[in-house]
Amino acid sequence: MEAYLPIAYLNDFIFCPRSIYFHQLYGRVEQRLYQCTDQTKGKAAHKAVDAGTYSTSKHVFQGMEVYSDTYRIGGKIDVFDSKKGELVERKKKIKVIYDGYIHQIYAQYHCLTEMGYTVQSLKFHSMDDNKNYPVKKPEDDPKRQLAFEQLLADMRTFDMSASFSANANKCKHCIYHNLCDASLC
Ligand code: SF4
Repeated sequence: MEAYLPIAYLNDFIFCPRSIYFHQLYGRVEQRLYQCTDQTKGKAAHKAVDAGTYSTSKHVFQGMEVYSDTYRIGGKIDVFDSKKGELVERKKKIKVIYDGYIHQIYAQYHCLTEMGYTVQSLKFHSMDDNKNYPVKKPEDDPKRQLAFEQLLADMRTFDMSASFSANANKCKHCIYHNLCDASLC
């Protein structure tokens, strides 16, 4: 049976396909050993959600496990308000809405929908400056939906042994640069 792709890998894969390998390899290691400051801060911002302390309302699901058989993906949502039908992905501070963010919230959307929930709207919430960024639903943005499907296909066919050109700027910001033999920094 084909393995499910963790939703958390989608953004990593866009950043650099090779980073998935290190993510898998070091995923169980104490994260403090290799996590950089920004990522640690981001994790802390998510802590309330992961611990289920963001809201006590029964209609607000936090850090819930979701999955989709159609796309063979699984992971956790951030916050879903089932009364409003609103799916929210919170980030510490959003400066740019990266494609990877959109793909991750699409993945959450598809999982929730397949599990029988009605999702009316999607948005990102930037916690530091309290800004919201609405996102069109996949059915209202066919181009992005196609890109999402292509990303999953690319992830499933990526060959770690194939020739690879690293991006020095990405390597500079990569938490795995000390471990990666393709690193340019
Ligand atoms: S060090 Fe560079 S090539 Fe290696 S995983 Fe990171 S971004 Fe990719």
